[in-house]
Amino acid sequence: MNVFRSSPIKELSPSYDPWDPITSLREQGRHVLTSVEMTVTNLCNMRCEHCAVGDALTAKEGEMLPLKQMLDRLEEVEHLQTISITGGEPMFRAETVKNMIVPLLKYAKERGVKSQINSNLTMPYSRYELLLPYLDVMHISFNYVNGDDFHEVGFANSGHPVSKPAAYRLYDTMIENSRRLSSDGMFISAETMINYRTHTKLPEIHQLIRNMGAKRHEVHPMYATSFASALPVLSLSEMAAAIHNLLDNRDPEMWMLFGTLPFFACSSLEEDQSLLRRLRTEQNVTLRNDPDGRNRVNVNLFTGDVFVTDFADIAAFGNIASRKLDDIFVEWQTKHPLNQKVNCHCDAASCCGPNLLVADMYYPNVDFKARKAITL
Ligand code: SF4
Repeated sequence: MNVFRSSPIKELSPSYDPWDPITSLREQGRHVLTSVEMTVTNLCNMRCEHCAVGDALTAKEGEMLPLKQMLDRLEEVEHLQTISITGGEPMFRAETVKNMIVPLLKYAKERGVKSQINSNLTMPYSRYELLLPYLDVMHISFNYVNGDDFHEVGFANSGHPVSKPAAYRLYDTMIENSRRLSSDGMFISAETMINYRTHTKLPEIHQLIRNMGAKRHEVHPMYATSFASALPVLSLSEMAAAIHNLLDNRDPEMWMLFGTLPFFACSSLEEDQSLLRRLRTEQNVTLRNDPDGRNRVNVNLFTGDVFVTDFADIAAFGNIASRKLDDIFVEWQTKHPLNQKVNCHCDAASCCGPNLLVADMYYPNVDFKARKAITL
């Protein structure tokens, strides 16, 4: 098969974000699979309060599928542009790094596909160093203003006490790894979720992220799923106020990427329109449409099951043992009732609909398919 091979030299920037499904939607006239996320472990040294895959974390796990099986399935994806590696903590076991992660990243590099890994960055530097020649984006979560926050948030679901000194050691390791990897040329993208803890502290968190050498600050609302489903949900006005405050106090030279926001161009509220106008016009600020189910699927590398997201709420709808990823994706796109709920598209607003979890959280009774972008 003549698979799509993208240019290996195009650099990620506010004007080039291949994870955003709007680009391939425009190019192809329909959503196509351009992004494959792989879950390479369910182990993690932390148990964050908000963990979106917390219910899937385990203390032990079995054998992974053969690397070749996954590489063969990736090779069949005609329009592949990005891969993401996630967990658990993907770097938790050195063998996973060596035997699975590095070969997947090498494959991506050779094919001209951009790559991302999601890590808490608390593992030994020597493991991260192995990724330097291949990885495009090291994605970390950063929701803290100090080690106390990290201790409180990062081990909330441990089920046993974790001492402050032990948490502080990990916090310091994360910051040191970020600084060192950044100075060695790695692109660190730190994500902060807007939730009941962080919404008043975003400028301070932003400053720390900058000091850690990160190139990009990502901001998303917290998803009320898995461990986070029992946490308080912010109102839309609290969330908008938090975003304005962050924009007022950020470093305008740093790329800020906002994703899965619950504000849409079809809103009749002037405050929503004004926030969107601001986000569209601020320097170095981008709004990313949600990749989940639009241009991306997630593959569990222990079972081969394919999901729309790495969140466990929507059941698997295929398995790589028997089917091609492109075929599974087409079936999701055309037949799955959940996709039919949110697969709207207003091109003038560069919007291709809400994230399913965000829509459920804030707009349970809204039919987005019946709406259209209002301004522009
Ligand atoms: S694509 Fe959907 S969510 Fe976005 S502006 Fe249009 S109707 Fe609203």
